[in-house]
Amino acid sequence: MILESLGCATRQIRTPDQLAAVDALVVPGGESTTMSMLLERSQLLDPLRERAEQGLPIFGTCAGMILMASEICDGRDDQHSLGVLDMTVARNGYGRQIDSFETDIEIVGLDTPFHAVFIRSPVVTRLGPEIESLAEVDGFPVLCRKGPVTVAAFHPELSGDDRLHRRWLSQSGICYSRASGPKE
Ligand code: GLN
Repeated sequence: MILESLGCATRQIRTPDQLAAVDALVVPGGESTTMSMLLERSQLLDPLRERAEQGLPIFGTCAGMILMASEICDGRDDQHSLGVLDMTVARNGYGRQIDSFETDIEIVGLDTPFHAVFIRSPVVTRLGPEIESLAEVDGFPVLCRKGPVTVAAFHPELSGDDRLHRRWLSQSGICYSRASGPKE
């Protein structure tokens, strides 16, 4: 796992007590409807919203981006969004599984392109004024940031490139043991 390779101790979060004990949180890809249901059952929705409001560094990728959004325009009726970022996403906006794709994208602040893997990714259809768009595909934001919260429509953990994780950790004020990698 990228974070471990950077010297960070990681653990999976399943309970509010576990959430209360971490310094930062990755909300990974998966299926946002199922993740929403599990967050509700585990009574993690409100604690997560609270910690986000208090400034918890969060890296949300793909389904994790959907969960962080304030509005999901084609989610299930019972699907929760955490409303951490003022943005609207179309859940399977790039199409079905077969429409998944990979492409090199230019990212603000990175010297060379990043190979981005999109798997049934959300399309960002609206971005609130306080949120920075750091990369776009076909004119739509695919990497967005507000303070310690970064969200990606793609899977940055699948490219063998740790630049985005390192940047998120640094921007969040989290020290890690490997200060620079081969690509930056
Ligand atoms: N389309 C999925 C969803 O709705 C997200 C896919 C992913 O995380 N790779 O949650």
